Amino acid sequence: AKNKGKSAYERFAPEMKEVSHERLQIESRLRRALELDEFELYFQPIVETASGRLIGAEALIRWNSPTMGLVMPDKFIPLAEETGLIIPIGEWVIQQACAAASQWQESTGLNLSIAVNVSPRQFRDPGFVNVVQRAVNEQHLDPTLLELEITERLILDNTIETADILRRLDTMGVRLSVDDFGTGYSALSYLKSYPFDTLKVDKSFVRDVIIEEGDAALVKAIINMAHSLGLQVIAEGVEEEAQTHFLKAQGCDYAQGYFYSRPASGADFVEWIRTNHR
Ligand code: C2E
Ligand code: CA
Ligand code: CA
Ligand code: CA
Repeated sequence: AKNKGKSAYERFAPEMKEVSHERLQIESRLRRALELDEFELYFQPIVETASGRLIGAEALIRWNSPTMGLVMPDKFIPLAEETGLIIPIGEWVIQQACAAASQWQESTGLNLSIAVNVSPRQFRDPGFVNVVQRAVNEQHLDPTLLELEITERLILDNTIETADILRRLDTMGVRLSVDDFGTGYSALSYLKSYPFDTLKVDKSFVRDVIIEEGDAALVKAIINMAHSLGLQVIAEGVEEEAQTHFLKAQGCDYAQGYFYSRPASGADFVEWIRTNHR
């Protein structure tokens, strides 16, 4: 082989050095981004499938980088997670999201809910439950209007700790949803033992629901199972009207996707409410 004679260190060290240098750079840039207030929350409407009525929004973070432009979360959330910066960034997200929901209440008179993504490291941080409690208190937000989205993978990772945190959040009155449902190694038993309120059907199932019988059957089954467990269902990634008809026929409670609106800045979201819901 090509690398015969070279030690593992010689073969991989230069590359690793580069990678870790790049990582350090991004880490310090992320840290600065937080200090310089370069993060921004975008909001994507969540509507009631049957009526089309707006019920709330999901908060999705963006990074307005002076050098890179608008950076999407997939590009920096994993790094923030690895470096631990997700803890202060996630706290910022929760505060901003609660502030936004309480402003919407004032400016539109609607009781809109706000869904926030929570990453595993943030969820396990000992201060997490207090961060949520503080944000809700400071904004005088009805806790049932805050929905925390937790991925299936996190739930299956670490049971005792996870169960305890979920119980404390549930007691506080915030709502809990399973994000990307169906993509993990679903051990469905957690659904009956944990206090979840909502399942978010992953967009990979929703995408082909009209053209793939298998996907249609899966989504149908997920909706029925969720309902028999007393959970509500949100379909994400809804892009076409035909999908909304299918979801309505299957009794899916809520829907979210480009068909209704792309994620929008705070100002554009409020404008969207004015034009679509008045
Ligand atoms: P997610 O939680 O599954 O969020 C849904 C993603 O699907 C968003 O991508 C959204 O823009 C996109 N999307 C919405 N409607 C459609 C549609 O009709 N079709 C398609 N193809 N896509 C649609 P985005 O904003 O790039 O976020 C990517 C991921 O980054 C999120 O996936 C979430 O896991 C993570 N993320 C976003 N904001 C935060 C945050 O504040 N904290 C944490 N921890 N993670 C976040
Ligand atoms: Ca989500
Ligand atoms: Ca609950
Ligand atoms: Ca999702």
